Amino acid sequence: MAKILVFTELHGTHVKGVTLEILGKLAGHTVEVAAIGAIPSEATADLAKYGASKIHSLKGANLDKYSPEGYANALHGFIAAGNFDYVFAGATSLGKDLLPRVATKFDAGMASEVTNFIMEGDQFSGTRPLFAGKCFAKVELTGPRPHFVTVRPNALGLNANPTSGAASANDTAVDAGAITAMIKEIVKGASEKLDLTEANIIVSGGRAMKEAANFKILDELANVIGATVGASRAAVDSGFAPHAMQVGQTGKTVAPTLYIACGISGAIQHLAGMRTSKVIVAINTDPDAPIFTKADYGIVGDLFTIVPLLTQEFKNLLGK
Ligand SMILES: Cc1cc2nc3c(=O)[nH]c(=O)nc-3n(C[C@H](O)[C@H](O)[C@H](O)COP(=O)(O)OP(=O)(O)OC[C@H]3O[C@@H](n4cnc5c(N)ncnc54)[C@H](O)[C@@H]3O)c2cc1C
Repeated sequence: MAKILVFTELHGTHVKGVTLEILGKLAGHTVEVAAIGAIPSEATADLAKYGASKIHSLKGANLDKYSPEGYANALHGFIAAGNFDYVFAGATSLGKDLLPRVATKFDAGMASEVTNFIMEGDQFSGTRPLFAGKCFAKVELTGPRPHFVTVRPNALGLNANPTSGAASANDTAVDAGAITAMIKEIVKGASEKLDLTEANIIVSGGRAMKEAANFKILDELANVIGATVGASRAAVDSGFAPHAMQVGQTGKTVAPTLYIACGISGAIQHLAGMRTSKVIVAINTDPDAPIFTKADYGIVGDLFTIVPLLTQEFKNLLGK
């Protein structure tokens, strides 16, 4: 059976959800997990619940902040010593930056941003969307191992019946090697919320928001239901929201459980970034808006009336 490693990142005291999705999908295989730095007990418990057989906390000098070279060197050494056949990670901002660098060090094959996969015996086969989700490619990996795979957050979903694994993390010394470009400071955005690509619920606003200050009503709804706020390109181009919030072909690709589109027409380029959301709710004054052809639930009405009503209703339901 293949020897599998999942590289994980932490979000506060917990691991990022995509790690648990990957572990759930790999149920039945022996899977080790590694993170750079100390792993809090809550994260260890989550990993154990979802089947990690061993949990490695990789420690060494110059690894306190993310450094593409340092992390890649450290992970390369650890993977080589562990003789892994497969290395998985989330297709997060960090995962998309780091894993190709490590794969290059091994001159190994890599499947990027798969949205589903199976492991038959020790053979990986995955699917990944191409051309903004218009078609899917089947990806198989050949050549020398280890093979590398990044998985798009929220694409697999959590395994409802995970098989539990080990309970404790062990420290392993790793070497960050020579670092020629060092990140001096990471300035966090104002929001502590999950990045759009990892969010489970997204509330997005379009051109109909009219001005940046009006995004406040989306923030209020998002705070009540634990969502991250996104935007259409028209809203971004109009200066209502920063580009980091843009969903779509030239923005972020998201796959939340719930996507609430407020005053967004549903142009093909917007749909390209959110069409794989599990449930889509659209609020639009125009009953013929294209977004309604993709929406599971549609509300024909003025978002400035509907959104505050929804916020109040959720507050009542959730006792907030
Ligand atoms: C190469 C290329 C790349 C692109 N990439 C992206 C991308 O990544 N993401 C993206 O989003 N777009 C992208 N676009 C732009 C895309 O084509 C659309 O122009 C854009 O998505 C429209 O944004 P919108 O729906 O907010 O605005 P509009 O199309 O203007 O729609 C506004 C909607 O709000 C409704 N409305 C108005 N007032 C209210 C109200 N009070 N309450 C409720 N509803 C109301 C209207 O009925 C309308 O349907 C791209 C375009 C190109 C050419």
